[in-house]
Amino acid sequence: MRATLGRMNLEQLRAIPKVELHRHLECSLRPSTLRELLAGGGREVPDDAEAFAKMYLVTQPMDDLEAVLGKFLATQGVLSTEEVLERITFEAIEDAFQDGVRILELRYAPTFIQQGHEHLSFDQIHSAIVRGRDRACARYPIAVGLIAIVQRILPVSEGERVTDFVIANRKTFVALDLADNEIGFDSRPFAPLFKRAKTAGLHITVHSGEADVPESPEFVRTAVELLGAERVGHGVQIQHSPEMIEFIRSRGITLELCPTSNWLTHAVPRLDAHPFRRLMEAGVPVTINSDDPGVFGIDLTNEYRVLHESLGLTLDDFNRCNDTAAAASFIPHDQKQKVWPRPISTVKV
Ligand SMILES: [Zn+2]
Repeated sequence: MRATLGRMNLEQLRAIPKVELHRHLECSLRPSTLRELLAGGGREVPDDAEAFAKMYLVTQPMDDLEAVLGKFLATQGVLSTEEVLERITFEAIEDAFQDGVRILELRYAPTFIQQGHEHLSFDQIHSAIVRGRDRACARYPIAVGLIAIVQRILPVSEGERVTDFVIANRKTFVALDLADNEIGFDSRPFAPLFKRAKTAGLHITVHSGEADVPESPEFVRTAVELLGAERVGHGVQIQHSPEMIEFIRSRGITLELCPTSNWLTHAVPRLDAHPFRRLMEAGVPVTINSDDPGVFGIDLTNEYRVLHESLGLTLDDFNRCNDTAAAASFIPHDQKQKVWPRPISTVKV
């Protein structure tokens, strides 16, 4: 019943000042830009929005993994010049701002962007992204931090290349992340890289506990204990382990939850079965994120709608989650406080 009381509309949800900690730059392309870049690359681009979505976006739970991979690769294929990278960064931040976001952490995998675009060095890729970020931040009152991703599915030597680059550029990165499939791709060999990044002053977040498999809660323990994760991307499967819920709660580890993403990847069977509210009520620091808004054809406000309509979250709940996220953001305190309407705790949670 709670969901129907004082129902907020999309406009009201969009107006809520938001923090987003988990958004992939490479999967945040504005639909009109993706269309333009695909067409420019000689790809077939149907005019009809539904046909376009069917061809290039993931809007239904992923059953045909090959088709899904093809869609991700089509988007990845257009990230071939510094000009494009600067543009999509600027637009992702502009779109986030219009969506109510005031504190944003954008992440990207240098190795993913470079794949097939070997003419671009990490330095050229990152400089273009930083230019886009700085241009957007000069225009809009928004604080934006960049996170670099190490891909778990690649050899450790590739992760080392990313880690070295991030440490050398630690003034323009806030954190290091480990992403990609956890099943069959052990996180543990990457632990020395994450220790080195932490020693160099970078923060750590790790994609973990996403897939609905029995080992997932233990993956999260490894992410925290061995890789030093201060936040966990997803972590949604700790829902099956009261011990891990307590582990995460007592350590004040923030979960970067992404409801629609979890539904599309079968991490949860239905949106109304998402454990967001249960974890929140158990005292776990939870935050609201869109993950891959471009590829999923959503925006962050859509995630607020889902939580409001399916799980009955209220404006007070949203404000609390956003204050939690503001405190857990890796962006320096003075920068994020400048754009946030309420005092940001310097103590996490
Ligand atoms: Zn993610």
